[in-house]
Amino acid sequence: MAERQEIIKAVELAGVVGAGGAGFPTHVKLAARCDVVIANAAECEPLLANNQELLKYSADAVIDGLNLAMEATGAQKGIVAIKKKYRESLAAIEKEIQKEPRISIFLLDDFYPAGDEHVLVYDVLGRKIPEAGIPIDVNTVVQNVETLYNISRAVKHIAVTDKYVTVSGAVKNPVTVNVPLGTPFKKLLEMAGGTMVRDFLLFDGGPMMGKTASMDSTVTKTTSGLLAIPAGTHPWLSKKINLHVQIIRARSACCQCRECTELCPRRLLGHALEPHRIMRAVANGISDVTALKTALICSECGLCEIACPMGLSPRAINVEIKKTMQQKGIKYDKTPALAQMKERAWRKFPAKKLLTRIGMDEYAANHAALMQTKIEVDEVTLPLKQHAGVPAYPTVQEGQKVEKGDIIGRIPEGKLGANLHASIGGIVARIGPDYITISNR
Ligand code: SF4
Ligand code: SF4
Repeated sequence: MAERQEIIKAVELAGVVGAGGAGFPTHVKLAARCDVVIANAAECEPLLANNQELLKYSADAVIDGLNLAMEATGAQKGIVAIKKKYRESLAAIEKEIQKEPRISIFLLDDFYPAGDEHVLVYDVLGRKIPEAGIPIDVNTVVQNVETLYNISRAVKHIAVTDKYVTVSGAVKNPVTVNVPLGTPFKKLLEMAGGTMVRDFLLFDGGPMMGKTASMDSTVTKTTSGLLAIPAGTHPWLSKKINLHVQIIRARSACCQCRECTELCPRRLLGHALEPHRIMRAVANGISDVTALKTALICSECGLCEIACPMGLSPRAINVEIKKTMQQKGIKYDKTPALAQMKERAWRKFPAKKLLTRIGMDEYAANHAALMQTKIEVDEVTLPLKQHAGVPAYPTVQEGQKVEKGDIIGRIPEGKLGANLHASIGGIVARIGPDYITISNR
């Protein structure tokens, strides 16, 4: 097996970032020391199947990546955290770890948000990450399974050029595809047979935490799903929220029933976050600064919206408060969380119930299996920033010929970020202020 520094260097060169979240550069995460690495295979956002499909066919590479991550961080233990119900993926992992005494499996129940790092680390290890903290604060590193797959490839000198993406929601044939980074969303929808409704929003990510996107957007290193969200469903309505109206409604309609707080997964873990208090503070003209500051530890999971009988969105208010506080440089100090609430045992929100509550259950009937045919893409547009940190700068020029895997963007020395590589072979057709387009038409 490669040495620690070799692994970290290879991962940095290959441009590996967290594939399941904010795109934090993986080489930085691997430079930490810890005693456990958790492979996050919870895939808790409804309708997504990209992690399950990857595991079914490439569990060997994921387990290899887990071993490499353990080697880099000095961890003695690796744990694959996966939902019991993902039977085929689970069987593939079980087969792969037969000769891996340091790696075990932790079976998760089917609830949302089982994959939230605070929730996951507590459920798997019983370790409580402090409020505003990260897993390394409790001697743990968590990596999404596709990130581990990319670590395995990086050590074999294969750069991150492709992404597993589930195309689902109101589409004719839900499917998971492995496509070059920069593939237009329009093309992904075609692969799923097009949409079944006329009025919809496109989501980059899951229905609960995904972001709205346009047909012209393209696949990045953090795109896990592309969903067609029909008008009138909860995720669609949640993107139509007008903040000004929400604040007026917080004043007039919030009855302080506390339903949002009772269901908040961070609150149930013992965090100080109480969305009903934030709503009260907003309604009262922003006087309870202590309550408002707790918006900074909100994960934006959206369960409070599901819980609210008045149709309010504490999440949207929290997002706005966070933005304002971050602009003012206000931070939330890492604070040990209190003991988990005993109610947590029966308040974990079942994934099936969530699908019904958000009005998307009819779209979950067909599993988005992996498309087995090779996918040809003749033009890709790659944003220079698809990771946490600073954008990459182009290292190529318009008209230059590139091969798949060639480096086309680098990070300035000493800055946080990730290298960018050509995801198809062709000619550099355009370089914009924040993107590079490669074409082989
Ligand atoms: S979005 Fe709502 S439920 Fe989720 S962590 Fe934030 S306050 Fe809690
Ligand atoms: S659930 Fe809705 S009405 Fe009840 S306290 Fe929370 S925001 Fe207010």
